Amino acid sequence: MPTIRLEKITKKFGKDSIAVNQMDLEIKDGEFVSLLGPSGCGKTTTLRMIAGLETPTEGEIYIDGELVFSEEKGVNLSPDKRNVGFLFQNYALWPHMTVYKNISFGLENMKWDKSKIDARVNEICETMRIKEYMNRYPAELSGGQQQRVAIARTLAPNPRILLMDEPLSNLDAKLRNDMRAELKRLHMTTKATFVYVTHDQSEAMTLSSKVCLMKEGVVQQYCPPLQLYGEPANLFCADFMGNPSMNFIQCHGKAYGDSIDLNCKHFAVRFTPNHPIDLNDGEYVLGIRPEFVVVDEKCSIEGRVISSLPSGMETTLSLAVNDVTFSAVAFGSIDFAMDSIIHFGFSGDRYVLFDASSTKMITLGSLEVLNV
Ligand code: ATP
Repeated sequence: MPTIRLEKITKKFGKDSIAVNQMDLEIKDGEFVSLLGPSGCGKTTTLRMIAGLETPTEGEIYIDGELVFSEEKGVNLSPDKRNVGFLFQNYALWPHMTVYKNISFGLENMKWDKSKIDARVNEICETMRIKEYMNRYPAELSGGQQQRVAIARTLAPNPRILLMDEPLSNLDAKLRNDMRAELKRLHMTTKATFVYVTHDQSEAMTLSSKVCLMKEGVVQQYCPPLQLYGEPANLFCADFMGNPSMNFIQCHGKAYGDSIDLNCKHFAVRFTPNHPIDLNDGEYVLGIRPEFVVVDEKCSIEGRVISSLPSGMETTLSLAVNDVTFSAVAFGSIDFAMDSIIHFGFSGDRYVLFDASSTKMITLGSLEVLNV
């Protein structure tokens, strides 16, 4: 049974502003789902509606099979009756309380008995590796330690569902990385359902079992992160995932047997779909991930190096083919001289064909360079 289900959820602010539009979403028990998208796309509003902190304009929400909100049936359970924990960006700890008290306070309010509280606080501090700080005050802790206390406080009552809104955004890059690993570990140990708001695609990629990518209040794609990266539903999804982002090449296609010949501005390629489908003559966009641009002297397309950014493990390149720029990633510890001419081509079957007018993905396939 799914833990959280949204059915045709819409949230309007005022008359014209639609923050979330007819959203259907099913989050299964034990999943780690990220709500991802650019600023203002409706992520926070969605999370707040699940929590009961925002009232939808239309639709229904179920948690663990129970109807917690229905506009039509006049149901609206208050946040404390939904059995969910929240963790927000500003996780204010109470400064005048010790770590122990910060965590135990909520349990006392829930009328847990004293020995049970003590056992639980000790247990959760152990899990969050903050046991040695239990008697300190928040001001005596680093940002990362404070964040761990905030997570411990949220997890203490054993919520089956944990809702988090950009909980790592106030931390520096190194701490953020450590906390990501911590969150992933916590997800495994608690087996709770995590719903996580972020605008950071790499965070969503690395943490989630599924990503819900939104744009202007509408879900664009909801699937495991590697599928979102490899088989984006449309140009928006393809562009949002990955850094450096996918190369997009406008082209005119002419069907050729099971393949289609794509006339791009400075070269022509034959695209063969991985599975046979009917392709008509028309306008297309070819999507090429930078890591599938193969830099090799034997290849026929020439590019001028306009930037070379070696990171040690790989080098990110910008290559100019006349007035078109390509991003490429060359693996290994190599640097390329500025303005040098290098050759590149394509291999494998992860190239993506999009319909130029609808922007939707048509299929994945392989490429053969026809002429340059
Ligand atoms: P961000 O990443 O910037 O936090 P978001 O994807 O979480 O963005 P929301 O905060 O859900 O976006 O906002 C969605 C839309 O609803 C935005 O256009 C926002 O301006 C609008 N909105 C949110 N809260 C309110 C409010 N209380 N009153 C009016 N409009 C609001």
